[in-house]
Formats: sequence, structure tokens, C-alpha cells
Amino acid sequence: MKIHEYQAKELLRKFDVTVPQGMAAFSVDEAVKVAKKLGGPVWVVKAQIHAGGRGKGGGVKIAKSIEEVQKYASEILGMQLVTHQTGSDGQKVRRLLIEEGADIQKEYYLGIVTDRSSQKICMMASSEGGMEIEEVANKFPEKIVKIFIDPINGLNDKDAEYLAKSIGIPNTSLENAIKEFKKLYKTYWDTDASLVEINPLILDSKGKIIALDAKFNFDANAIFRHKDILEYRDLDEENSAEIEASKFDLAYIQLDGNIGCLVNGAGLAMATMDTIKLFGCEPANFLDVGGGATAEKVTEAFKIMLKNKSVKAILVNIFGGIMRCDVIAEGIISACKAVNLQVPLVVRMKGTNEELGKKMLADSGLPIISADTMADAANKIVTATK
Ligand code: GDP
Ligand code: MN
Repeated sequence: MKIHEYQAKELLRKFDVTVPQGMAAFSVDEAVKVAKKLGGPVWVVKAQIHAGGRGKGGGVKIAKSIEEVQKYASEILGMQLVTHQTGSDGQKVRRLLIEEGADIQKEYYLGIVTDRSSQKICMMASSEGGMEIEEVANKFPEKIVKIFIDPINGLNDKDAEYLAKSIGIPNTSLENAIKEFKKLYKTYWDTDASLVEINPLILDSKGKIIALDAKFNFDANAIFRHKDILEYRDLDEENSAEIEASKFDLAYIQLDGNIGCLVNGAGLAMATMDTIKLFGCEPANFLDVGGGATAEKVTEAFKIMLKNKSVKAILVNIFGGIMRCDVIAEGIISACKAVNLQVPLVVRMKGTNEELGKKMLADSGLPIISADTMADAANKIVTATK
């Protein structure tokens, strides 16, 4: 789960991390009120959407007067903000963050993520913070310094100091940086975050280290432990098909391709997407209907996939273990009728009651293309889209 920058900064304040003074605003009037309260002389008007890259897209503006705050707030609020993370449609701006302007001496980057391969927490930092960090990572990976933190021991002073020195934080601010790094690590750990990204982390003219931007991702499997964070959820920022799917307990992620996939089991769903790509097409979604899918659930799954107008064909790949193929066949037949399916459908099923399931599909009179192996299914779906 993601949250907005202003919410992230609220959270950081609770952990005593240094962030600029600021408040959210939902209207231009409110933006002006907040700006007056903060006092100035410089304010930053920031679009609040879940995607990054707002600065380059025109969603972050420095205002030097209340009039400018009003001007930028009315320009940004309601705009369709396009960044490299939103896709070409962009994301509508419904909230703003109004902040006191920081006086930036230097911009650094700091990121914290769970590193599965080392089973540790990776804290990475760079002297090249700001809006080009993706480019830095691509062209000069050596400019990103990493430390791996054992979760049992947490972040110690020595490692924090090494990281701070490696990115060139001046000696006079080292102690300050170590403290901030440790507080950021604690925030990450205590909130069950899977990512905390501070870009830029800045040094101001008084030598203070300040988190000027903040991005969080939280582990969905642990979010039940954090009711306060769950309240930050903003459904406007989430894909409507994904919200719909979560109501039916379907694991659905929309992707960019044109082949809808309906699979039972996350591993098989991943393998199915890989196979589709191997045969030269792109999946339109990840969809795991789970082990106990009923006919109703399968019908909902079809409806959700078909809401995506890019879908040109659907591939159903089912392994009948506990799930019986005849139950799935029944679900597919009733789903096809309920949604009046207009795109080609390839079904591959293996396992319990396979023969019965296949016979039901064949006898249904529906134009369902039956496939035997994964390769056979992929071949047929590729042909069907052409
Ligand atoms: P992002 O583009 O979505 O990552 O948004 P950021 O919050 O990182 O803002 C983009 C850029 O705006 C930052 O890298 C800074 O250079 C600049 N910026 C943000 N806040 C301030 C501020 O208070 N003062 C100044 N001078 N620049 C700021
Ligand atoms: Mn940023």
C-alpha cells in the first residue's frame, strides 16, 4: 500500500525525523490559509499523487508570495499530472501539500528496502539526489552506496557513519545525519514498510539534515497491524479494477499487454505470463483466482478482466488439484454467458476431472478453444489475437 507525501511526513514526525513544516490542502482557499499560517517568505506548493516525478511534470512549484501560492494551487489542483510513473493518462491532483520553503545546500538520496537475497534491510544513499536518481542508477551505479542491516541488530552508528561519509555529508553534519538515518530506519522497521525513499534528503545552510520528500510502501500482509496507516489509504489513487477484485478476494494486477489471464495459483499465474511473453505477446493482467474459486468468482474475474479495453483474448490456465476441472468448466460456461464474451477464449486445464471438464466445454456450444500443454495454449492464444 502506498500513501501520500503529506501522510508520510506526518508519520515521519511521529518518529522525530526532521521534515519541513507543512500541511495538506484540499482547495485553493485552504492552500492560502495554510500558507498564511506557515508565514513564508517562501512556500512550496506540491501536488499529492502516489506517483513520483512530480517536479519534472510541473507538480512542484516554489511560491514567493501568498498570491503565487494561490496561483500555483489553482493551477495544480485538478490538473491531470503526467510523470514517468503515471503513464500517459496521468493522475488527477485532488490534494496539495503546502510547505515552508527549504534552503537547499545539497540534495542527497536515501532509500530503505527489504533485500530478500541477503535477508537484510538494504539502506542505500547517494550524493546525487534530486530528480535524476533513476538516471544516476543507470549510468553511474557506483554513485549509489549500500549497506545491509541485520534486522536482529538494527542500524549501528558505525554503519550509519560509513554511509553518511560515503555520500559526502560534511563532518560538521555527520552526527546529525547518523541520528536521522537511525530514526528513518526505525520508522521503516516499526511501520512494516517495504520501502522508504527520501529524495531529496537535504543539507540546509544551517547544517541540518531534512527529509524534503518521502515515499512509503507498506507490506500488505502486515498492514492489519497498523490501523492508523490503513486510514491513509486513498482509493482515488488505486486502479478501480484492482479495488473491485479485492472485494471478491481475487488477486488481480493490471498490466500493459492485451492477453487476459485467469489462473489458479500465483506461481502458475507467473509461469503463464512468462509463457505468453516467450511466445511474443504481453499479458494484460495477473489474476490468481485462488484455490477455492466458485462459478460466481470466475464470473467476477471475467467481468474485471473485460473492463480493460486492451484485452483482445483470454487465456484460462487451471490446474485441478483440490479444485476440480468440472467446477471450473461450469464457472467458465456461466461466465461466458453472463458477460456475453466477444473475444477469443483459450482454456487449458489439467488434473482432477480433466476429461469431464473438457467435455462440458466442448458440449457447451460456446466457441472455446481447448489447449493441452502450456505451449499449445500460448500458441493458440497468439494465433487468436492476430
Ligand atoms: P518529486 O519530483 O515527485 O520527487 O517531488 P520532490 O518532492 O522531490 O520535489 C522535486 C524537487 O523540487 C526537489 O528535488 C527539489 O529540488 C525541489 N524542491 C522541493 N521542495 C523544495 C524547497 O522547499 N525549496 C527548494 N528550493 N526546492 C524544493
Ligand atoms: Mn522526490
